[in-house]
Amino acid sequence: MVRTFLALSTVLAVSVTGCSQSTPTVDRFADDLAKSVTIDAMTGHLAKLEAIADAHGGNRAFGTPGYDASVDYVANALRAKGFDVATPDLEIKVAYNETPELTIAGTRIPARALEYSTGTPGLTSPLVPIRAGAGSGCNSADYGGLPVKGAVALVDRGTCSFAIKEATAAAQGAAALLVADDKDDVDDAGAPARSGTLGAKTAVQIPVVLIPKAAGARLRSAPALATLKLDAGVRIQHTRNVIAQTKTGSVHDVVMVGAHLDSVPEGPGINDDGSGVAAVLETALQLGSAPAINNAVRFAFWGAEEEGTIGSTRYVESLDFEALKDIALYLNFDMLGSENAGYFSYDGDLSGPPLPDGAVPRIPEGSAGIDRTLTNYLHSAGKPARDYPFNGRSDYDTFTKAGIPAGGLGTGDEENMNDEQARLWGGIAGKPFDPNYHKKTDTLAHINRTAMEIMGRGVAFGVGWYAQDLGGRNGVPVRGDRTRHVVAAS
Ligand SMILES: [Zn+2]
Repeated sequence: MVRTFLALSTVLAVSVTGCSQSTPTVDRFADDLAKSVTIDAMTGHLAKLEAIADAHGGNRAFGTPGYDASVDYVANALRAKGFDVATPDLEIKVAYNETPELTIAGTRIPARALEYSTGTPGLTSPLVPIRAGAGSGCNSADYGGLPVKGAVALVDRGTCSFAIKEATAAAQGAAALLVADDKDDVDDAGAPARSGTLGAKTAVQIPVVLIPKAAGARLRSAPALATLKLDAGVRIQHTRNVIAQTKTGSVHDVVMVGAHLDSVPEGPGINDDGSGVAAVLETALQLGSAPAINNAVRFAFWGAEEEGTIGSTRYVESLDFEALKDIALYLNFDMLGSENAGYFSYDGDLSGPPLPDGAVPRIPEGSAGIDRTLTNYLHSAGKPARDYPFNGRSDYDTFTKAGIPAGGLGTGDEENMNDEQARLWGGIAGKPFDPNYHKKTDTLAHINRTAMEIMGRGVAFGVGWYAQDLGGRNGVPVRGDRTRHVVAAS
């Protein structure tokens, strides 16, 4: 249960002592907005989203009628409160590929298509090995004098991108390209364990498949006739984001807040991320479309997050430099009611451990303050916060890459809670934070109501705070100091 909201004002007032801003007002506003977001209201949204999934084959995934119904639910709720709601259509290239059927001199070679490869109903051509080693196939000079026109070219992996190798081979007239892996690891079928991508923005002209390193070496010594059949290509699909902004507050200092509206195809997506949607939506409904605030609040419900944060990425790509500068910060909420809940704030002050690969993420100035604001909130709610790494796994990623300070809360995913965390929060050590992650069982029955209430109110607290005050020790850069990186549209 939430037990400390009455004390919230006091705690936060102490935390900002020394700041000249009119914090008591900000504080009271954020606190009141937080209290207006109730577990019952959020549960009502979750029940609705679950009913939508139940009525549409058990999910609300990208490209499905369940997703469209989710868009309608959120958009209608916002419109009923006086918001102007945009649901811009996004055309999305979705790569698909089956296992290639590759035979050379009558022997089947286990292979793996590269993402965004084109397909072929079946072609038979001589195999022509291109020089081996570093940079193999990166330059047209590598093809000098070889009879590659209409042939299946063979190059080694490495040095330049797959897209460059593909473009070079296609320019020489090759009918298809085989890339021999540079590592020995293979999967159960004997195909290279690691895949690769030609890139969503590449105009791919010929089929490109990866073959095992050993097979590449063998084929170089005895080139023969190659036969390739591959069902692959790109499908065009559509999705929508839902975007709504308050009619009040500075439009040059926008507080943006988002959650993803799609589920995975495997389940109804109630914790992931119906919980974020319910909290952000209820915050919008309680705030209203024309509140007395200093900074405009823009609410976003993202499409196709589970396909690789596509909706949020495309949104940021659609903004020019000035429009990006107008966004003061972005708050992201993805999974707020995990059954075995943790209490995390995105690690904007980089106080937590580095990423698993040892890297320290690049986090825009201002993110540290957001982390402190939300960490203070959780502390006040009786749940000491731990750090969520900025590991690129949710919709904040494209915002931070564009230079926009970001933060947010979460209750944990498929990872196990450790002993220290279990003691801290009263959960079960050795069990995943969300045992239902990306499963059919991600339902309302498994939502942790205590976590949902604290975190949902945290959404409103963060929004309310920054809607009134972007300054102070936990503030973000003023507009004139904002650096932004325009992301080229795909
Ligand atoms: Zn999610």
